[in-house]
Amino acid sequence: MRILYVEDEKYLADAVKYNLEKQGIDVDYAADGEEGLNKAVSDIYDCIVLDIMLPKLSGIEILERIRKRGIGVPIIMLSALSEVEDKVKGLDSGADDYLAKPFKTVELAARIRALTRRPVVVKGDKYCFGDLVYDNRQKSLNGELLTAKEADIIFELIKADGKLVQKEFLLNKIWGGEVYGEDNYIEVYVSRLRKMMKKIGVEAQIKTSRGLGYRLVK
Ligand code: CA
Repeated sequence: MRILYVEDEKYLADAVKYNLEKQGIDVDYAADGEEGLNKAVSDIYDCIVLDIMLPKLSGIEILERIRKRGIGVPIIMLSALSEVEDKVKGLDSGADDYLAKPFKTVELAARIRALTRRPVVVKGDKYCFGDLVYDNRQKSLNGELLTAKEADIIFELIKADGKLVQKEFLLNKIWGGEVYGEDNYIEVYVSRLRKMMKKIGVEAQIKTSRGLGYRLVK
């Protein structure tokens, strides 16, 4: 899971990022409203956490622009306890949740998890597609343990529910865009996943759309 965190108080941002990453939530950080909006519109995030008082563009403005573009990502707004009006405004503008500062990172992590639970959840942390069962807590596929990257890839494919998942999207989301032009990486992991699925004996398959990406078929 990868989230975007827009916050101008660097010391706070560093601490929150550190603590969220310890809990398995990858964090991309933006220090002002403009940078935040630029990153947000890439639409690769599972959740966006927006401080309201920000340089250049406020959290509310970012929120409004994200929603205007039809991006439905879950958004959590942050602001100081005294700013009740901000809370109302944020929720009115399409935020999904609100957290008052100061907050505990465990609380933020819990809210992020609650908002990113997808409708494909069958039970607890299990996600299904056809006869595939992915356990996001164990990071296993039909009981077989996966490496972190294999788990990230199959999770994205299962969430897409048979729709095409672009290679570029996977690279940005899983590798954080740090490996431009290295789509061989994905090929390697996909081929390992295919071998594993064959070994498990499931009927679901990962299909390649050449040059574009992958999708699951039942
Ligand atoms: Ca601020």
